[in-house]
Amino acid sequence: MTLPVMPHGPRKLRVATVSLAGCFGCHMSLLDIDERLFELVEHIEFDRSPLTDIKAVGHCDLGLVEGGLCNAENVHVLREFRAKCRKLAAIGACAINGGLPAQRNHLRLPLVLQEVYQSGPGLAGGLIPNDPELPLPLNKVHPLHEVVEIDYFIPGCPPSSDAIWKALTDILAERAPTLGHRLIQYD
Ligand code: SF4
Repeated sequence: MTLPVMPHGPRKLRVATVSLAGCFGCHMSLLDIDERLFELVEHIEFDRSPLTDIKAVGHCDLGLVEGGLCNAENVHVLREFRAKCRKLAAIGACAINGGLPAQRNHLRLPLVLQEVYQSGPGLAGGLIPNDPELPLPLNKVHPLHEVVEIDYFIPGCPPSSDAIWKALTDILAERAPTLGHRLIQYD
């Protein structure tokens, strides 16, 4: 599948990507489109992204957000993306429904912190980090759409490279992405 003639003409779309409470697996899937990346960069340029190491998001046509919201910094970054990106896509199960990190939602946060830092196997007398510079954890892990409006949802864990390619192809052509059953996977 090749990219269609773009309705936006010769101008490249500016795209930002970020991983919030995620594992970077969705970003790995983006890189897995392999040689199609060469075709992609004919049509887009990256703004803030782990691929560019740009730290602050600028005005963009599209934001791709991996991961849900587990702390206050996640919420801050997501709101910045919503303010700066014309369209916002939640990519992967964590962004869409909280995913694996949301498994802690049935436990009280103090108990989770205690187990992780103080009472888990092999731990003795550990301290729960409390540096004021650390982002405050949220009581629950939230999907993105509970905090900001999301334009597109790209499901999967991670979405396959073919699913990401199809979604990007649709978005670049200014169509809402449609994946179909065969392109949705949860490994
Ligand atoms: S959806 Fe899966 S691959 Fe993507 S960030 Fe979450 S756990 Fe990782």
